[in-house]
Amino acid sequence: MNKSIPFNKPYLTGKETYYINDAVNTGKISGNGKYTKKCQTFFEDKYGFKKCLLTTSCTDALEMAAILINLKEGDEVIMPSYTFVSTANAFILRGAKIVFVDSKKDHPGMDEDAIEKLITDKTKAIVPVHYAGVSCDMDKIMDLAETHRLFVIEDAAQAIDSYYVGKDGIQRALGSIGHLSAFSFHETKNIISGEGGMLAINDSQFEARAEIIWEKGTNRSSFFRGEVAKYEWVDLGSSFLPSEIIASFLWAQLENLNDIQNKRKAIWTTYSLKLNQWASNNNIKLPSIPEYATNNAHMFYLTFDNNFNRTKAIEFLKSNNILAVFHYISLHTSSFYKSKHDGRKLLQSDRYTNTLLRLPMYYELSDVEIDRIINSLKEYKV
Ligand SMILES: *Cc1c(COP(=O)(O)O)cnc(C)c1O
Repeated sequence: MNKSIPFNKPYLTGKETYYINDAVNTGKISGNGKYTKKCQTFFEDKYGFKKCLLTTSCTDALEMAAILINLKEGDEVIMPSYTFVSTANAFILRGAKIVFVDSKKDHPGMDEDAIEKLITDKTKAIVPVHYAGVSCDMDKIMDLAETHRLFVIEDAAQAIDSYYVGKDGIQRALGSIGHLSAFSFHETKNIISGEGGMLAINDSQFEARAEIIWEKGTNRSSFFRGEVAKYEWVDLGSSFLPSEIIASFLWAQLENLNDIQNKRKAIWTTYSLKLNQWASNNNIKLPSIPEYATNNAHMFYLTFDNNFNRTKAIEFLKSNNILAVFHYISLHTSSFYKSKHDGRKLLQSDRYTNTLLRLPMYYELSDVEIDRIINSLKEYKV
């Protein structure tokens, strides 16, 4: 029997424990120390985010965003249904009602043209999710937000090191466009720290308050900078800072970001080139990257013509010791939210729930293993 190929394998650059040791030896291991600052500055400089705050997860960063925009009971937030639960949970926790948008025909990301008719006088924010690290059409979304005075919070969990090219021809990093953006460094993402995340703040009106919410509702950060004589409780907040242990781990990854990205892109390209003909012969779609988006090789997925064929493919790959997995169950059909959903049918979202399949994608996937996956798929008969 062939060695099994997992779906994901967290990649370690080798320097993680070295930097963790250093963090431990400095004697400060709680949050907002040397490594937290190094990571935040790295992201601000490389991607043009105005201000970054590391968090313990993308979920946390989304929760911070929901507090920052002052959501109140009954406010509405527009987002795709084909996404992870945290995208919605963060806003539900503040009492919001979620209004789900369908996915596009040619991409699991939300259909920008379906947003406007969902906007009401209760709408407060739009939350685009850059599925597979591929940008939503941000010009359309930012224009809508400006017209209707809404906030845009990018769920950029999968979108580190990916870009959007706007109508003006300028290439902007995902996460630098919305008022606020949330990233994940969970071990299933491109750049990892086990659990981990970041809030990027691009609208300066949120900067001071974000730091307070991050520090349990206190003005401790100002105190440490010598701006106030004592620190105290000044606002809502929670414990959103990661420890220096996590930040030092993340630093080792950031030093190798280009290498990690190049490797993932090479794997993605191999899949794409070698599966292209097979896919079109079998009525299977490969991922599409719109002209306005770059590809950060977060994910390689196939879309089958129906659920039966996808299930057959999963089982066939499993019999060859290869783990390929489906993805989200659309949130509007989830047991938690289906009774709260307004009943609109979201057919594309349902279709991705039923037919999308993700192939193994990780740094250490060898050429031999990629060929094994590709050859197994080619043996699969619809
Ligand atoms: C991974 C992911 C999250 C959650 O990230 P955590 O860091 O695990 O909280 C949220 N949204 C999307 C789209 C994701 O892919």
